[in-house]
Amino acid sequence: MKLRNIFLTLLFACLIGIYQSDGQQKYAIVIHGGAGVMSKSKMTDEHQQAYLVTLDQALTKGEQMLQAGAACTDVVLEVIRIMEDSPLFNAGKGAVFTHNGVNELDASIMEGKTLNAGAVAGVKDIKNPIFAAREVMDHSVHVFLSGKGASQFAKKQGLEMVDNKYFFTERRYNSLQKLLKKERGRQEKDNHGTVGCVVLDQEGNICAGTSTGGMTNKKFGRIGDTPVIGAGTYANNKTCGVSCTGHGEYYIRLSFARDISALMEYQGLTVKEACQEEIRKLTELNGTGGVIALDKQGNIAMEFNTTGMFRGFVKSTGEKEVAIFND
Ligand code: ASP
Repeated sequence: MKLRNIFLTLLFACLIGIYQSDGQQKYAIVIHGGAGVMSKSKMTDEHQQAYLVTLDQALTKGEQMLQAGAACTDVVLEVIRIMEDSPLFNAGKGAVFTHNGVNELDASIMEGKTLNAGAVAGVKDIKNPIFAAREVMDHSVHVFLSGKGASQFAKKQGLEMVDNKYFFTERRYNSLQKLLKKERGRQEKDNHGTVGCVVLDQEGNICAGTSTGGMTNKKFGRIGDTPVIGAGTYANNKTCGVSCTGHGEYYIRLSFARDISALMEYQGLTVKEACQEEIRKLTELNGTGGVIALDKQGNIAMEFNTTGMFRGFVKSTGEKEVAIFND
């Protein structure tokens, strides 16, 4: 009888332990604001601070929402909205310019519970493209809309529409002018600033989203990886959520985001190992960029092969970090 009591006590303690470790209502957010060639000496302290403060604001907003019980998708949207509205990033206001001197924006979102997804590409007049991606996911029978059709749909859904001039910033315009003068195909320096967010909510659901203006001087309706589900964005509750930033053509060729999930699912890699492996493949092809991801336990990965990536994370454990360079 005594033994039985000890056994029951132990069993009870175990169950409590399992409940606490698994059901402790964990949450986590990881974000990026673009990867690229960045040097501490060339970026003023104020400039660095401006980025760090905005990243911190985005994380704080997301964490407050999660603590109040918000669903991962709503958190991804609000966190990305903050970065789209900031002129610092190459997404929404502050997007880079195409060869023709306009702004064409791409965004996508995916939910890990249902594998539902939505994306828009080449839109010129939707203030917050990430919200258009969500409308596509939730209120259309499609996954991916582009150009004028995407704008018509966004308008019909009641999203805020703006004139293309809204996205103008002098810095990005000057980047295009410099590049046009040099008559080079691409400019490494000032593309960075794509934004992304991956969230694990208290229900254990994962959502990932990414938003960008693409690459400076892009031509012929070029679309990068950002709105391509499986390339720039992916989420699956079984494995992880992923958001990418970098030279999009390489990310599309590698099915970058989905491959990270596959490496975890089929080869048992951790989220960090899978991201590192994918960055290795990118480097092998001479591609540049970075990736953020998290798994269902809230483990975070932030990997890149450039000299910097605007990035940060916050977890229910109280850990929080924002950073720019690769040291
Ligand atoms: N991946 C984006 C694109 O190729 C750009 C970036 O993340 O910097 O459009």
